[in-house]
Amino acid sequence: MKHSDIESLVRGFLVDTGKGNVDARTQQVVVRLTSDLFKAIEDLDLTASEVWKGIEYFSEAGATQELGLLAAGLGLERFLDIRMDEADAEAGLTGATPRTIEGPLYVAGAPESEGFARLDDATEAADGDVLFMQGTVYDIDGKPLPGAQVEVWHANLKGNYSFFDKTQPDFNLRRTIIADSNGRYCFRSIVPVGYGCPPDGTTQRLLDKLGRHGRRPAHIHFFVSAPGHRKLTTQINIDGDEYLWDDFAFASREGLVPPVERITAADRIAAHGLTQAFVSIDFDFRLNAEHAATSATEVEHIRAAA
Ligand code: FE
Repeated sequence: MKHSDIESLVRGFLVDTGKGNVDARTQQVVVRLTSDLFKAIEDLDLTASEVWKGIEYFSEAGATQELGLLAAGLGLERFLDIRMDEADAEAGLTGATPRTIEGPLYVAGAPESEGFARLDDATEAADGDVLFMQGTVYDIDGKPLPGAQVEVWHANLKGNYSFFDKTQPDFNLRRTIIADSNGRYCFRSIVPVGYGCPPDGTTQRLLDKLGRHGRRPAHIHFFVSAPGHRKLTTQINIDGDEYLWDDFAFASREGLVPPVERITAADRIAAHGLTQAFVSIDFDFRLNAEHAATSATEVEHIRAAA
């Protein structure tokens, strides 16, 4: 079938038959995606069995909560970031901390504190390195932003996130820190490790067929926001991870890999209330001011809340 015939067919199915209220945007998107799908079926000569296999795949991915992971693994989430970066560049918005993907594992409602928070519940303190991470939230001109909100979340040493992993207490390794009067934030936690897609899940099954691994390098997620400023969704990576530049979700970016310092000096160890060496990461965030010409940086999608 010719592409033009497919387009007429889809219009006949989805456009010229509508009698009630039409949501024009929904119609436009559905017609386009359906046409593109039909063309792919035609061009690739997909069999009916292959098409149904695809539908069953998405059903299973949805039922097992893996569609978010699939969006990351196919590069869809990264692609949306690239488009937002392009829009920012066109609007002349440069110099802010680079954005990178949110991923599917944020949970709203984490405990809030000012200036400092301890993220971990101490159960893994003996198994990994203690991490202190600190810095300042600045505006684009380098002025500190007191009261900025730093939401942080990361995986435990098994590569699992609280809420989704019910063996961890609620909000373990998740906090909201309000920057102090100097715009400073600081937290204590454990240095996270990388993790991978569930090995028997739908995402990994597809990645296997593409000859790809499903590993993420160790990272820490952030939302950083302040009134009058564009919300930043980002992550930092732990330098040295073997998958640092080989992330299955394509989230590693220049500017988001701060130096990791191992602190062994007795006075600094004592000053942090510790008895053993620890890891320290300094990282400042820089937010752009709100800008009317660009789209909102608050991306709407359903997120967990505990
Ligand atoms: Fe993550």
